[in-house]
Amino acid sequence: MATHVKADAPRTRSGQAVEHIGFWINGRAVAGNSGRTGQVFNPATGAHSADLAYASVAEVDDAVRAAKEAFVTWGDTGLGRRATILFKFRELVHKHADDLARLIVKEHGKVLSDAKGEVQRGLEVVEFACGIPQLIKGEFSQNVSTNVDSYSIRQPLGVVAGITPFNFPVMVPMWMYPIAIAAGNTFVLKPSEKDPSGSMLIAELWKQAGLPDGVFNVVHGDKVAVDRLLTHPDISAVSFVGSTPIAKYIYETGTKHGKRVQALGGAKNHMVVLPDADMELAADSAVNAAFGSAGERCMAISVLVGVGTATDKLIPLIRERAKAIHVGDGLEGKNDMGPLVTKPHMERVRGLVEEGVRDGAKLVVDGRALSVTDREQGYFLGPCVFDNVRPEMSVYKEEIFGPVLSVVRVESYDEAVALVNSNQYANGVAIFTNDGGAARTFESEIQVGMVGINVPIPVPMAYYSFGGWKNSLFGDVHVHGQEGVRFYTRAKVVTARWPEPHLRGKNLGFPTVS
Ligand code: NAD
Repeated sequence: MATHVKADAPRTRSGQAVEHIGFWINGRAVAGNSGRTGQVFNPATGAHSADLAYASVAEVDDAVRAAKEAFVTWGDTGLGRRATILFKFRELVHKHADDLARLIVKEHGKVLSDAKGEVQRGLEVVEFACGIPQLIKGEFSQNVSTNVDSYSIRQPLGVVAGITPFNFPVMVPMWMYPIAIAAGNTFVLKPSEKDPSGSMLIAELWKQAGLPDGVFNVVHGDKVAVDRLLTHPDISAVSFVGSTPIAKYIYETGTKHGKRVQALGGAKNHMVVLPDADMELAADSAVNAAFGSAGERCMAISVLVGVGTATDKLIPLIRERAKAIHVGDGLEGKNDMGPLVTKPHMERVRGLVEEGVRDGAKLVVDGRALSVTDREQGYFLGPCVFDNVRPEMSVYKEEIFGPVLSVVRVESYDEAVALVNSNQYANGVAIFTNDGGAARTFESEIQVGMVGINVPIPVPMAYYSFGGWKNSLFGDVHVHGQEGVRFYTRAKVVTARWPEPHLRGKNLGFPTVS
């Protein structure tokens, strides 16, 4: 991997040298020399595992320059050659799926099976992008006027950037760069500073796959790096995934600087359970979707809306299941749920749980006292379930992004829909019912980008597009699927006539069909 240990590197508590993680620019690892670094931790142990170089403006410029130079050739490289490299990359990611998953666990904390699932879902986008010769086809009309043909072509934009969050350090960047690169663009990735290692291994795999130097670059850092990407004159488009305030900032700043921007933001996903639903299935689904990855998924269920008699049936089933969840180090196979990503994040989530208690919500499963043997310094919090949550409470209003499920009781289907539709976020939603008519009405009335019917986490497959509405997305275009291909290409329409002698002569009129 593209990390190394410096001779004078600091030591961990156990005396091991701390790794230094630099950038990947123009096909090689570079250490980074801005003098600014951030610390990376193993959330299960609390150990400081690496120091991460933070890019200066000049270092971001180096990456963009490499990408710009590489675009000259890559943008003109034949579709067959591009697809061949993508197929090879797909094979390499598949081969290294376990290595990637372990890197994810060590820096993010999620359990290994979940991390493997993340790599798998990312790979599906790579596989989609392997079909670029088919995906990028234009249209052709013969004889739009006599002896005149029209056709559309889609061309790459140039250098594009991706700025990604901590919660899916491998999958979310894979929503972006496989399609961008397949379409002929070159890419600069700025992954989350909390779990950067997966991106460095990915860079090496691209190189092994035969991707020319400079087509895929990685810089790390904070606002300094992000702001340079947003304002750099040679960046044509920015894809962002992260929290809502930053997504809004990215959209406003990027578009102000003339870039195409898609910025996916935060979420508060509701699961509506009607009284006729299969309650065992609903309870399993609520618990899996609320506590998988410790609730750090943008499609996690964080609010269960129980309609009428559904809630009283569900609460004991959910309590029993939540209490049976094994929490611990994600590398140990017996565990279902790992720690939160950082200590400050764990403290924030705990603080919100305390606030819920103070506000009068009923904590029916309390994970605050959880302690994991031999992992006392880890950032753990057990599953928490609140009943009787009201919409004005902070546990309802805030995106908690932790293992906390809030149950809101409503009397009717209409009340449930009104609650969901009045929320500022609109990423995912689910309804559990055995009434096909109710589900069909729901899918039409609900103002949310991704809808599950008896499916709690309705993440679209790679050949559909992923994205929310309202404050969960700034921009018009969702990621991957055909919308991804459109985002990373510009359409051009050509109207062509190959002259014949009889067409010569003066005609100043506007062209019309003849
Ligand atoms: P974040 O917004 O803190 O960070 C995302 C990226 O923005 C990171 O690369 C980070 O370095 C950068 N960043 C942070 N602060 C910045 C600033 N002030 N200026 C410029 N750049 C900045 O998000 P996170 O905590 O890493 O991830 C969790 C969030 O991401 C949650 O809100 C979650 O809902 C959201 N998310 C959304 C989706 C989606 O598809 N809608 C998917 C995954 C995660």
